Amino acid sequence: MSEEKKQVEQILDRFENEFEKFTNIAKSKFDGLTLKVAEKLQKEISEVRIKHTGKKSELSGAKKLIGKVAPENRADFGKFVQSIGKKIENSIEETEENLKTFIEEAKIEREKIDVTLPGRRPRVGHLHPITLLRQQIEDIFVSMGYAIEDDREIETDYYNFDALNIPENHPARESQDTFYTTDGFALRSQTSTVQIRAMERRGVPLRVIAPGRVFRRDTPDQTHTPMFHQIEGLCVDEGITMAHLKGTVTEWLKRMYGKETKTRFRPSYFPFTEPSAEFDFSCFKCEGNGEFEGNKCGTCRGSGWIELGGCGMVHPNVLQNCGVDHKKYSGFAFGFGLERMCALMYSLDDIRLMFENDVRFLEQFN
Ligand SMILES: [Zn+2]
Repeated sequence: MSEEKKQVEQILDRFENEFEKFTNIAKSKFDGLTLKVAEKLQKEISEVRIKHTGKKSELSGAKKLIGKVAPENRADFGKFVQSIGKKIENSIEETEENLKTFIEEAKIEREKIDVTLPGRRPRVGHLHPITLLRQQIEDIFVSMGYAIEDDREIETDYYNFDALNIPENHPARESQDTFYTTDGFALRSQTSTVQIRAMERRGVPLRVIAPGRVFRRDTPDQTHTPMFHQIEGLCVDEGITMAHLKGTVTEWLKRMYGKETKTRFRPSYFPFTEPSAEFDFSCFKCEGNGEFEGNKCGTCRGSGWIELGGCGMVHPNVLQNCGVDHKKYSGFAFGFGLERMCALMYSLDDIRLMFENDVRFLEQFN
């Protein structure tokens, strides 16, 4: 064998040595090979191809020798180089092809849907504690013949104050100071605005409750937020007295907190009612004892009473403002904040929790 042929044979040997790793893996039918490793091998093989068949490869160098051998041997040597080149090409091609098939099958396997796996359950939300409480109260009043009224949150000064017997410069405007739009509209500071509109629209006799969002110019702290929820009730008919008010509020609270619940009315002042009262009910935690499990009750601070809201007989001026004959009709109204009630029921020390939308907090009401 000529010196040149020997050189070319050595090229094949070196290739086969280097490529043995791949042929061995192929022989084992890629047993135990992961998709990731297979893809890495594929990359390596294409590098080997460049190294052994590319322009800078030894084989390419050997082809240049063809012109240098004696003319009578040239054809024979040329064929020899070509056959070696073919061998290298075939080895690479075969292994590459097998590897490609293996990768394709592995991918199909990976993407196959495993129907035995449990599905991902969509997380279902639930109602906010304020909404739950509101619905509970609404149900009680609806069963007592009340209609639920809703109305706008942005009001004119007239509905927010004047119609409620709070004329300009009245001191009550200060405690109920609210936010205004640039056009001078007020964000309602109580849901009493709904009562005015309901009386105007429906006339009397009338029994409604108005739940909704109200606004006050308050700095947020543990017991105040600039936006909160109120429920107000209104009953107007002939011969309505304070006794009806007491009976209604007491019945509602008994249905909420149990038959033993007692109520108490303390004289107070509101511009839109006369006479006015604040209403309390006996603490649901200590049952009015002021003591719970040997300690001072935290819910009522030991008093046995929970102060809930304000109420009174609708002021004749308010009836008159709504076109109701105050000599023929009388009515009562009451109102309270939902956040405070909710905070008491769930022993929350900060009502801001209800507006932070922290799922860890809200989940507890599911
Ligand atoms: Zn108590």
